[in-house]
Amino acid sequence: MKRLILFGAPGSGKGTMGDFIQRDFHLQKISTGDILRSAIQQDTADGRRARNFMESGSLVPDELVIELVRQRLSCGDLNGGYVLDGYPRTLNQAEALSGIASDSEKAFLIEVSETEAVERLLSRMTCSSCGAIYNLLTRPPRNSGVCDLCGGRVEKRNDDNAEAVRQRFRVYIELTMPVIEYYGRRNILARIDGSGAAAEVYERIKGLIA
Ligand SMILES: [Zn+2]
Repeated sequence: MKRLILFGAPGSGKGTMGDFIQRDFHLQKISTGDILRSAIQQDTADGRRARNFMESGSLVPDELVIELVRQRLSCGDLNGGYVLDGYPRTLNQAEALSGIASDSEKAFLIEVSETEAVERLLSRMTCSSCGAIYNLLTRPPRNSGVCDLCGGRVEKRNDDNAEAVRQRFRVYIELTMPVIEYYGRRNILARIDGSGAAAEVYERIKGLIA
């Protein structure tokens, strides 16, 4: 069973790499966002707790995120393995994850310069219904403003202005550093050059997974 963990700052193309890996290696892509959304939709007790935090604009606490991820990873549909996108975000989460899946973990850090990340993010749009991500430069929806997957409305994220984007990039790097170091120490971290077109970046990752 393959257990892959994808890291990358906003704008690194990490989500797209997760999609490619899911397609070619039959691994289920799992993001914290998806897990939260689905718990909220199912209106579980944990889902309601998560929703309260999100609605009040605060971060969902570690222990709750860890519990929701643990529940998700213990579902019976992941026998082929999975690729985690955006998780773990903290050292606590990383250690909890190793407790669930100590063997066969492999982490990838997709590195991209701040300049390139900011440029990509400013052309990014999101489906307001299913969360699918588009890019006006590299990956526009087939019909302008309409999601290819669900027909939902595709719009620009309202926090996507240059200053906010730069800020998110820096915060990510700072917060994730301890987690990156953790996987580095365990010798299961691969650093990937994330510059250039998505297909090129993927070529650099692909051979390391098989
Ligand atoms: Zn959609």
